[in-house]
Amino acid sequence: MRLLESDALVVVDVQNDFLPGGALAVPDGDAVIAPINRLASHAPNVVVTQDWHPSAHASFASRHSGRMPFETLALPYGEQVLWPDHCVQGSSGAELAPGLEVPRAGLILRKGTHPEVDSYSAFLEADRTTRTGLAGYLRECGVTRLVLTGLATDFCILWTALDARAEGFAVLLVEDAVRGIDVDGSVGRALETMAKVGVQRLQSQDIEA
Ligand SMILES: [Zn+2]
Repeated sequence: MRLLESDALVVVDVQNDFLPGGALAVPDGDAVIAPINRLASHAPNVVVTQDWHPSAHASFASRHSGRMPFETLALPYGEQVLWPDHCVQGSSGAELAPGLEVPRAGLILRKGTHPEVDSYSAFLEADRTTRTGLAGYLRECGVTRLVLTGLATDFCILWTALDARAEGFAVLLVEDAVRGIDVDGSVGRALETMAKVGVQRLQSQDIEA
C-alpha cells in the first residue's frame, strides 16, 4: 500500500527514557527507530508525541511515600500505574532519541504536562476529559487515517489507538515499529483490544516509499 495525503504517521514517545538504558526502558525499544525513520522520510503528515512531565509528577512512585514503581494507586481520576521518574521536562531522558529522524514532523505534541494528571493517550488525558487538541489538529490537516508507531504498545500506543478510533480516525498499527513493556501479558491484551475496535495491523515493509 501507499500512504495518502490524508494519512498521518504518528510517532509516540520515542524518547531516551523509554529506550534500553533509560529510566523506564521498553525492552528492544530502539528497534522501532529504523522503521519509523523510513516511514517518516515519505509520510505526507508526521506528528511526534513526547511524554513531558513536571518533576514530582503524580504518576511517579517517588511522589507517593511507601509506594514502588509498577504498583497501582487510586488517584482522583482513577487507577494509575506508578512509574519510575521518567521524561522530566528538560531532562536528557525526555529528549527524542538521537537516532530518530523526523525532520518533516509538523507537530511535536507534549503530553502528561499537568502535575496531577497522567496522559498515555495523545488525544485525552487520563482524567478522560482534558483534550490535548490533537484530534482538531489532524482534522484541520485533512487527516483521516493514522499510521501508529512508537512506544509502548500496551500503554501510550493502546490508549492513543482507542481514542483515535473513538474520534473516527482509521488506525493502522505498524507491528515492527512498536514495542511494549508487557506487564503480565499486557501486550497481548492490548493487541486484542485494539483489534476489537478495528485497528489494523501491518508491517512497515507493507508500506511503499
Ligand atoms: Zn509518563
